[in-house]
Amino acid sequence: MNQPTSGLLTGKVAAVTGGESGIGRATARCLANAGARVFVCDRILDLANRPEFGRLGILSQECDVRSISHLESWISSIVAAAGRLDILVNNAGIGMTRPIEAVTEQDWDDCLDINLKSAFFGCKFAIPHLRKAGGGSIINTASNAGILPRAHDPVYSISKLSLVGLTKSLALCHSVDRIRVNAVCPGPVGDTGMMNADLAKATDVAATRQQFIDASPLARAHRRMITPEEVAEAILYLASDAAAMVTGTCIAIDGGKSLGVPPKA
Ligand code: NAD
Repeated sequence: MNQPTSGLLTGKVAAVTGGESGIGRATARCLANAGARVFVCDRILDLANRPEFGRLGILSQECDVRSISHLESWISSIVAAAGRLDILVNNAGIGMTRPIEAVTEQDWDDCLDINLKSAFFGCKFAIPHLRKAGGGSIINTASNAGILPRAHDPVYSISKLSLVGLTKSLALCHSVDRIRVNAVCPGPVGDTGMMNADLAKATDVAATRQQFIDASPLARAHRRMITPEEVAEAILYLASDAAAMVTGTCIAIDGGKSLGVPPKA
């Protein structure tokens, strides 16, 4: 669990999509512990988060990011409540492990709408407010698949490669506004809805879990998956003034998975 990080974001207002679970929830906690006022949206609100979110002052709202008008209303409601917006984390996402022959138009739309289109429109709606605040930080949760595409999930890989492209493009466009746009590219992260769903489909859960770990050299060396908190710490850095000159980057938090073929076990 993230520890308090001494007011690094005091006075800042942050919005996190997909913040009720996994990496998004760890990020909401981490930014709140650093002093930010945090707003979260998700398509489903998890009752189990209410006590902790209440203590940390994290406000959650139901919003399906596929609906661009809901996304716009959510961002407007944050600025109406908090008077400003400084940080946007486009984190909501779904997996799509399906070969091209099995992909339907609906699969394509779901994956691209949630993983890419919502991030683009989130940026569109947030940028005027970040500009008004004198600058700000946007962080997109991409993936290891945004660095190197994978054979088993072409649609997901396309969505994350494009999200990295969006990150670099908007970083370039909005540097003049002192708006920084960066991405994190996690490898296999445990304790997330996405990983749990992948493991639930496996015939041999322990072996599949081990395969995820073995694919990442450092995960294998540590004998564990990456944690949501380890991704959240990188997001905190990118959100903070410590990264004032960092834009258009993709920080791989993948234990070296995207470096190449790992050494034999
Ligand atoms: P998760 O399932 O725990 O979190 C995803 C969150 O997004 C959930 O709370 C979910 O309800 C929300 N969401 C999904 N569709 C939505 C919609 N239409 N509207 C609003 N919210 C929606 O899984 P996670 O691993 O924490 O995923 C967070 C991000 O991390 C995703 O973008 C994912 O692609 C990325 N990622 C995850 C891993 C991993 O191994 N878990 C690795 C690389 C990248």
